[in-house]
Amino acid sequence: MSARPLKHVVSISGGKDSTATLLVALELHGHDEVQAVFADTGNEHEATYEYALDYLPRALGIKVDVVRASFDDEFATKRANLARIAAGEPESAVYGKREFMYDWTPEAAARALEILKPTGNPFLDLCMVRGGFPSRKRQFCTEYLKRNPLTEYALDCVDKGYFVESWQGVRADESEARRWLQSYEARGGHYAVYRPILRWNVADVFEAHIAAGIRPNPLYRENMSRVGCMPCINARKVEIREISRRFPEHIERIAEWERLVSTVCRPRSPVSFFHMGTQAHRGQDSTIYSVVEWSKTTRGGRQYDLLADAEPASACSSAYGLCE
Ligand code: SF4
Repeated sequence: MSARPLKHVVSISGGKDSTATLLVALELHGHDEVQAVFADTGNEHEATYEYALDYLPRALGIKVDVVRASFDDEFATKRANLARIAAGEPESAVYGKREFMYDWTPEAAARALEILKPTGNPFLDLCMVRGGFPSRKRQFCTEYLKRNPLTEYALDCVDKGYFVESWQGVRADESEARRWLQSYEARGGHYAVYRPILRWNVADVFEAHIAAGIRPNPLYRENMSRVGCMPCINARKVEIREISRRFPEHIERIAEWERLVSTVCRPRSPVSFFHMGTQAHRGQDSTIYSVVEWSKTTRGGRQYDLLADAEPASACSSAYGLCE
């Protein structure tokens, strides 16, 4: 047993599973040893911010720390590269002799430089420096926006002298990848992972809320089956339809992000929030507005194949339990 003081770090997303996990942690260890932390992607619904950063702290008498990824270094590197291209250097001199499907032109690089600055919104900044949105195949959002900042937070606690137990709100019945997880993993380096609700079902999770007198995120009453990003890149057709009906302002925000990201991408690169499987390179065909139109179709509507790319999603729906 470690001689270090224990710190139970619970990453909360505003969703039901991470909230239930926090409730268990507080019940078992009390307020002094438990620390809740929220990774702000910048792509959350305002109800989730209110729930995780205002309601839960007030209702439970806790403090929630917030972590946000920053991409300032990546912006600086990308800006330096584009400045060289805008000044007329050949792309091969900047990026090496790699083959790209679409090439930068000096004019496009100069246009991109006008826009390419950190906005302070982690999700948008990540997409701007990566030159596109994450997809099921390249689900880099969880890694950069949640896993990395939360890992840094935990390592910081270790550096401060704690033994950190990272509590994850993961349930085995959610996906194949989660079925074989262990409930406790000692990782070495004064760090361990604990998954206290691994064998729970959804009813158990809501029961824990009731027992503690804590209401779930109100988005569940708005027909949202999960309350991660608004929207999540993995949103199902029915969720996209509901989001567009209930929260059209979030669709408009994503449309503006598509416009901004396309300005800082290689010319003619297709940029869309939802990657439509084999349709991914149809450019304008899969912008958020066209996807919303598709989401309203029933059989016989124009069919995109949302799941054509559907390899097992890499992080969110697998082991980490960082997104619902
Ligand atoms: S997988 Fe979805 S919920 Fe998770 S970070 Fe990406 S967009 Fe957000």
